[in-house]
Amino acid sequence: MKRRGIPIVISAASGTGKTSLCKRLLETLSHTARSISYTTRPPRGEEVHGRDYFFVDGATFDQMVADGEFIEWAEVFGRRYGTSFSAVQDQLDQGVDVLLDIDVQGGMQVRERLEHALLIFLLPPSMDELKRRLINRAEDAPDVIARRLQEAKNEIRASKDYDYLVVNDDFDQAATDLRAIVRTHRLRRNRRDDLVAALTTDD
Ligand code: 5GP
Repeated sequence: MKRRGIPIVISAASGTGKTSLCKRLLETLSHTARSISYTTRPPRGEEVHGRDYFFVDGATFDQMVADGEFIEWAEVFGRRYGTSFSAVQDQLDQGVDVLLDIDVQGGMQVRERLEHALLIFLLPPSMDELKRRLINRAEDAPDVIARRLQEAKNEIRASKDYDYLVVNDDFDQAATDLRAIVRTHRLRRNRRDDLVAALTTDD
């Protein structure tokens, strides 16, 4: 019996360091791939279509929603983002764990639709530190930062429905914690019927 992959949802308020932690997790865990989302927002900086996101127009996104192509989709900061059902299923079927870097609205939809999903929420050490990181990132205007901080509180409240909380105070420690969670989840008894079957099947 082939081991099925685990959908791993990682969410956080923006500025928590989610992108870097996800990148580290992918570099240090075998059999793990990142789900590439569809979005209606334009590319930023060095982003590449098909690597960072699939950048699509609103009409294409609408059609994909109508055709039921998304496991989940949500509007985040006025843009829409969605996760392809078939791409994720293909990887899970191959035994690959799939990392979904998505917001809390998406996380809740995944929880309902993929009951074996693992949901991890990353927290900043404090709201002051989050504000400092958003300012240092120098990506957003002051009014946008104020809006992101307000939104961050709503997102952090929604973490009550997640399985694990990881505080990103020290980056290396947070990366180690994340990796430990995934590795432990892989060992859960109800995921390893194959091992027991292999040892107990009569000749
Ligand atoms: P950004 O535009 O900065 O790349 O992402 C903004 C937010 O959208 C982040 O919190 C990111 O996790 C979230 N996001 C990215 N892809 C998806 C997706 O497919 N579905 C949902 N629900 N959120 C997503």
